[in-house]
Amino acid sequence: MPYQAILEQIHAEIAPTLPQGRMPDYIPQLASVEPTRFGMAVCDTDGHFAAVGDAEERFSIQSISKVFTLTLAMQREGEALWRRVGREPSGTAFNSLVQLEFEHGIPRNPFINAGALVVTDMVISHQGDAKAALRDFARRLCGDDDVDYDYTVAESEAAKGHRNAAVAHFLKSFGNLDNHPDAVLDAYFHHCALSMSCAELARTFMYLARYGRNADGPIVTPSQAKYINSLMLTCGTYDAVGDFAYRVGLPAKSGVGGGIVAVMPGQFSVCVWAPGLNASGNSLAGTLALERFATLSGHSIF
Ligand code: GLN
Repeated sequence: MPYQAILEQIHAEIAPTLPQGRMPDYIPQLASVEPTRFGMAVCDTDGHFAAVGDAEERFSIQSISKVFTLTLAMQREGEALWRRVGREPSGTAFNSLVQLEFEHGIPRNPFINAGALVVTDMVISHQGDAKAALRDFARRLCGDDDVDYDYTVAESEAAKGHRNAAVAHFLKSFGNLDNHPDAVLDAYFHHCALSMSCAELARTFMYLARYGRNADGPIVTPSQAKYINSLMLTCGTYDAVGDFAYRVGLPAKSGVGGGIVAVMPGQFSVCVWAPGLNASGNSLAGTLALERFATLSGHSIF
């Protein structure tokens, strides 16, 4: 597959759309990123790699980290995880509070903020230092020991993180957090502030393209890889997940840092970064780029 030529064509095609996205000003540190940055990288199961633009530049992975948190929690918790979190799309914004009241503190899925806070709570209970656990997991999977948190981004989000704090305290009031909300929020804000490049994220997500295995061995079981990919397809791009699945047709996870990673099981993992967002909080140009990638490569799960 001529991935390099496909990425170069996409880069040229979507360049005019880069200034159209909106920056996430509720995390001040993210709003200062140059909105016309663009990178894209793909890894396949035969070991090929292709990249364009700012593919080696690190950015704030934000909610993409929710896939890593879920993976860590699943390794220890297994199916018991689903007693505390649902697995249905929410249809509401990723930081909404309304459903939680009606649904008695059980978040709809692990990829909205409420669900990720519950999953983070599990990782703290399992591993103690959830910040070190997630950072080391990302380092191991991408094979780069200097992957780290951007502490300025974590602080910037914590300073304005009143809505997430409300969600965490609300969960605690329903008995769905075992640890103190402050400890859960601290780990969560750091997880979101992990800084990685498209090239690193494409490599890291290969365990989901390889049925749960990375180059060194199993990370999760093949069934768990299926579960995670299914959840990305149905819940990975917030309340725009139906439109995203229609257009791209691949399991994917986005973050408000402008990154989106998509996986074609058995074939490849692809990551795009374009910081301007659409109204649902997904990268605007990144969504277009992945739609073009699916079309030009001829690959989608359907
Ligand atoms: N840190 C962000 C938040 O909690 C993550 C949201 C996102 O990427 N969708 O709001």
